[in-house]
Amino acid sequence: MTNKLKYFVGNWKMFGDFGSIKIIYQIERFSAKFNRRNIKNKIIFCIPFTLIYFFIKKIKSKLISIGAQNCHHHSAHGPYTGSVNASMLKSVGAKYVILGHSENRLEGDTNLLIKNKITSALNKKLNIIFCIGETLKEKNKHKTLLVLKNQIKGSIERKHNLSKIIIAYEPVWSIGTGKIPKAIDLKKIFEFIKNEFKKIFKTKKFPVVLYGGSVNSSNIRFFSSISEIDGFLIGGDSRSSKKFIDIIKNYYK
Ligand code: PEP
Repeated sequence: MTNKLKYFVGNWKMFGDFGSIKIIYQIERFSAKFNRRNIKNKIIFCIPFTLIYFFIKKIKSKLISIGAQNCHHHSAHGPYTGSVNASMLKSVGAKYVILGHSENRLEGDTNLLIKNKITSALNKKLNIIFCIGETLKEKNKHKTLLVLKNQIKGSIERKHNLSKIIIAYEPVWSIGTGKIPKAIDLKKIFEFIKNEFKKIFKTKKFPVVLYGGSVNSSNIRFFSSISEIDGFLIGGDSRSSKKFIDIIKNYYK
């Protein structure tokens, strides 16, 4: 068992209503007991905009942080129907925001647009969970490392507050499919992301890098054997308190 801080981040996507707070209450109760074992983990739930303010008011402990799943690139108010910006997220108490998720890239988010979103969110002192990952086609063409490097270089700048950016490596072909990468590939990819980040931005510190894609309570032991992984971004199985708790329990078994 490792003593390094590990992240367990839930991405609820388009799920949840006010009643879903009970999922968070159960995880909060579990963490309160579990953390007494001197285990250092950070639990973050990135939930729909409609629930952020309500959940933050309801959560009493500091064991769970709340974030959003996207934001607009303009931080000033303006004529952008249906959009929510970083100032609005900040004003309701969000601490994190996921940016660059492949589902948003599919809808048109480019590296440049994501860079503008990152800049805007950092200006509002939000923490970023920045998603990168290759498609199956890119993987089959052996382009994974090149794609990851371009995504990092295309959306992060040296002037950004790098200590507030968490990277989530999410191979697109693994999200919601039950398919996961091989250990040998994961090790290589995580080492590449961490070293490349240091090299590109001339920083001494390695970034925090999470893995996301079909993580569940059965395969989490496989991931826990890979020390380069600093935590997990969990989609489907973060919407059940039992599944999410079992992931954490099994990780530390
Ligand atoms: C995600 O969408 O960020 C994700 C990791 O989904 P899942 O865990 O369902 O593959």
